[in-house]
Amino acid sequence: MTLFAGLETIVETDVPLAPRTWMKLGGPARYFIQPETVAQLQDVTRRCRENGVPMHVLGRGANLLVDDAGVKGAVIHLAGEAFSRAEFTETGLRAGAASDLGKIVLRCVREGQSGLECLTGIPGSVGGALAMNAGGAFGDIGSVVDSVDVMADTGETFTRFRADLAFGYRSTNISSKFILGAEFRLAEDDPHRILKQVKQIWMYKKNTQPLGAGNAGCIFKNPRGLSAGALIDRAGLKGRTVGGAMVSEKHANFILVDSSATASDVLKLINIIRETVYKKSEVYLELEIEVW
Ligand SMILES: Cc1cc2nc3c(=O)[nH]c(=O)nc-3n(C[C@H](O)[C@H](O)[C@H](O)COP(=O)(O)OP(=O)(O)OC[C@H]3O[C@@H](n4cnc5c(N)ncnc54)[C@H](O)[C@@H]3O)c2cc1C
Repeated sequence: MTLFAGLETIVETDVPLAPRTWMKLGGPARYFIQPETVAQLQDVTRRCRENGVPMHVLGRGANLLVDDAGVKGAVIHLAGEAFSRAEFTETGLRAGAASDLGKIVLRCVREGQSGLECLTGIPGSVGGALAMNAGGAFGDIGSVVDSVDVMADTGETFTRFRADLAFGYRSTNISSKFILGAEFRLAEDDPHRILKQVKQIWMYKKNTQPLGAGNAGCIFKNPRGLSAGALIDRAGLKGRTVGGAMVSEKHANFILVDSSATASDVLKLINIIRETVYKKSEVYLELEIEVW
């Protein structure tokens, strides 16, 4: 592994990615790299750049479909204390990009800090959530961001502040390759009141969405003013299967997979959904999940 000589403790080759995604599908990463410090991340990105190795950043794989052929380049997964530390500050919370969203929401409840409870039931990491402004009907992560620490693929690190950040529906203007961490502005509140809100959101999700592994959340973005799920339902696609992949009966914008499914089944089903919805409603559905 001359390309990454000296970095053997953090670089592995041909590592299956399926277990690292919520869909549990897809092939291996040629290089699977878990930097533990910013210096290691800079070293890794420099070597990738110099050798023309494409880089992909993996969070907790909750919004991803990996192709059956896998990923030819490097999949970089921020690991270790430097990227997963989360601590309360005078104005809210500072969290590393690798911090687990679910655990953070629960810590905020315990500490009586309100603002992030809108992320209840959304699996993933802080970095992944910021990269696509995760959220939903109850709010989104962008609305409580104070600043975001980022690193360009050139290795340059800097902080972007609220005034210069824009968050939209499942989008942000953060274009740097790596999100390293962020500060969130939270408000003190009664833990019981926050917990009540968390429970309400959780019940809503449980009643309307198929939670648990074997899916990647909503497959398509909602077109402006429309619901992707309703369009798919109206096109008569609930329950439609390709191989081991099926359009959920509970929420048509979710695709469920069983143990026989391949990424190719999901991609074929995605195409069928797009074509059928377009024929029925003349709306082209844009992917919310990312396909590698
Ligand atoms: C059951 C279920 C329910 C869901 N419900 C919702 C919901 O209600 N609302 C919602 O918005 N989403 C939802 N999702 C999708 C998913 O939870 C979010 O998109 C989440 O933010 C993904 O985070 P992740 O760490 O898993 O990112 P990944 O899936 O690992 O990556 C997603 C994208 O983020 C990028 N990324 C990850 N980490 C970093 C980083 N440190 N720096 C730069 N880029 C990074 C990746 O390169 C990729 O482009 C759901 C998913 C599931 C499985």
